[in-house]
Amino acid sequence: MPKKTTVQDYIRTIVDFPHEGILFRDVTTLFSDPRGFRMAIDQMLHPYAGECIDKVVGLEARGFILGGAIAHQLSVGFVPIRKKGKLPGTTISQEYKLEYGEAIVEIHDDAIQPGEKILVVDDLLATGGTASAGIKLIERLGGDIISCAFIVDLPDLGGRKILESMGVDVHILCE
Ligand code: 5GP
Repeated sequence: MPKKTTVQDYIRTIVDFPHEGILFRDVTTLFSDPRGFRMAIDQMLHPYAGECIDKVVGLEARGFILGGAIAHQLSVGFVPIRKKGKLPGTTISQEYKLEYGEAIVEIHDDAIQPGEKILVVDDLLATGGTASAGIKLIERLGGDIISCAFIVDLPDLGGRKILESMGVDVHILCE
């Protein structure tokens, strides 16, 4: 087996998941490898050396794994954005469009204080629907989004352009 030297080398592609015709980029093989996981976390953190960040927000579900590790490295708190109905406290909600239909994400209404500097984390950016809904929730609570960090960009789906058009800084490790 060839030696893995980049984050991309640890990601595998599953054909026809979750539907026929979809190529799913599976990051569990990256997370399960000690070198791969450390490389991903170190590279995601790299652009923020010296930046003031108050909280990391992770998008369900793989954003929790990455966001938890990044928040720990930065010695800051972690806040989850979850699918509707999963958070126990009082929440605010944001709807967004899927290919077929709509989805709703939520955040606890006391999870972010106005003016707090926020880093948003998820594994993959596709259409940008999930991340832009998350950004809207954070901004509604008064959070100041410093940047959004992802491992994978699917550039044909245009998510990066959508986030940048919202005025958000974006860092992504690979396409
Ligand atoms: P978007 O909302 O940008 O269209 O989709 C991104 C969201 O869907 C992310 O939360 C991401 O975890 C998930 N997602 C969509 N496609 C894939 C994929 O091929 N691989 C992985 N790991 N996640 C995906």
